[in-house]
Amino acid sequence: MPNEIVTEMVHFTGTELSCNCGCGLVGLTQHFADKVEYAREKAGVAFVVRSSRRCDYWNTLQGGKGNSEHLWGDALDVEAKDSFTRWKIVKAAIDAGIRRIGIGATFVHLGDGLQYSPYPVIWNYAFAGAVAKEAEDLDGIDS
Ligand SMILES: [Zn+2]
Ligand SMILES: [Zn+2]
Repeated sequence: MPNEIVTEMVHFTGTELSCNCGCGLVGLTQHFADKVEYAREKAGVAFVVRSSRRCDYWNTLQGGKGNSEHLWGDALDVEAKDSFTRWKIVKAAIDAGIRRIGIGATFVHLGDGLQYSPYPVIWNYAFAGAVAKEAEDLDGIDS
């Protein structure tokens, strides 16, 4: 993708923005990073990153779809273990202009791959029968 990739952010470390397999792939697209920073500021709660950028190998291993936003740096999975935190994150994300949101049992997927994915959408991972996988896999899954 031609989008510029950001590897340094105010609220997130390079490690947090890196692929969890350790391959070194890192960063979010500029347009998404701007929205994430704004959302983090507005939410007023920590965004504990479960999954950020993913290489093809790791995305496949995590059960992510072939066109996953995580491949392009257009997605961030943030921990949300209770309904209050979930509200703050989702509200702030929508206010920040994020138009693709996935609700998992313990995390929220924020996505900005509007060039290749439908929007505005909110999906629930449970609908995909993903609850068991989500529980056993801290990296989460992706639609
Ligand atoms: Zn990787
Ligand atoms: Zn995700």
